[in-house]
Amino acid sequence: MQKPSFNFKHTHNPNTIKIRNRVLIITVCAALISAIVGSVCFFSGIGKPERAVPAGKSSPYAHRIFSETRSHAPSAASFAPKPLQPAAKAVGKPKKVIYLTFDDGPSTLTVPLLNVLDKYHVKATFFVVGVNDKDEVSDLKEIARRGYAIGVHSYTHDYRQIYASPEAFFSDFDKMHSLIKNATGIDTKIYRFPGGSVNTYNKKTRKAIIQGLKQRGYVFFDWNAGGGDAVVHPQAAKILSEALTTTHMHNNSIVLFHNSSVKSATLSIIPQFISTLQKEGYTFAALNPSVDNRPFIFYHDA
Ligand code: ZN
Repeated sequence: MQKPSFNFKHTHNPNTIKIRNRVLIITVCAALISAIVGSVCFFSGIGKPERAVPAGKSSPYAHRIFSETRSHAPSAASFAPKPLQPAAKAVGKPKKVIYLTFDDGPSTLTVPLLNVLDKYHVKATFFVVGVNDKDEVSDLKEIARRGYAIGVHSYTHDYRQIYASPEAFFSDFDKMHSLIKNATGIDTKIYRFPGGSVNTYNKKTRKAIIQGLKQRGYVFFDWNAGGGDAVVHPQAAKILSEALTTTHMHNNSIVLFHNSSVKSATLSIIPQFISTLQKEGYTFAALNPSVDNRPFIFYHDA
C-alpha cells in the first residue's frame, strides 16, 4: 500500500486541513492500539511455561514460579523448563516408612530374627535388656555387626525398681548403656521405656526422668503400632493381623514387637508381615536420634 504524504506547508484549503487532521488522529490511534496490543502479547507470554507443566495445578513448585514472575521482572531463567523436573518427582506419593522395633532381647531368638531381617533386606531397631541372655555380649555384637540399631531398654526391666526415683532409673540406664558400649563400641542415644513413657509405675518420676534423658542427649521412642505380643502365649495369627491392622492406620509407624526367648510366635510371623507391607510400598528403616519422636510418644508435657 502506498504511504500517504502531505505537504503541510503549502496546504491552506480548509477541506485539506480537515482531511489532514483526520489522518493525524487515525495515525495516533493506530499507534496507541498497536502499543497496547504489543504489551498484552508480551505479558501474556509469562504464563505460557506454567501452562506447559501438566502437573502445574497441583504443583507447589509451579505455584512458586507463578509468584516469582509476579514479583520480579520476567527473565529467561524464570521460564527455563529444567528446574521443573525435580518438582514433578517431589509431588509423588508420600513415603511410607516403618520402624520395626524389638524389645527385651537379646535372646536365643535374636540371631534367627536377624537372619529373617537380612533375608528381606530390612533394617530394624533392638531395645535391649541386660538379663536372661548368657550370650549377651556376642549377640549385641552380632546386632551391631549386621548394621541394626541398638537402643537402651533397661538392665533389670524391673518396673518397681527403675521407676522408684530418677536416681534409681539412671543407675539402671547407665548400666545398660555401658554394657552396650563395651560390647559394641556404640554410644547409643536412643531409648525405650519399659511399659512405654507413660505407665502406672512412673507417674511420679516420668517428668524428671524425661528431663534427665533430654539433658543427657537421649531421644526416647514409644510406638503407634504393634502385634500385641507382650501377653503370655500370644497366637501367631493374632499377632500378624493386629500388627498389620495397626500399621495400616499410619503412613509412618513405629511397630512394637518382642524378641525375648519366649516370643517364637512373633518370629514366625515376621516374614509374612514384612513381605505384605513391602508389596504395599512400605519401606523399613532403623531408628536414630534424628528421627522426630513427637508423632510416636505417649508423653507430652502439659
Ligand atoms: Zn520391655
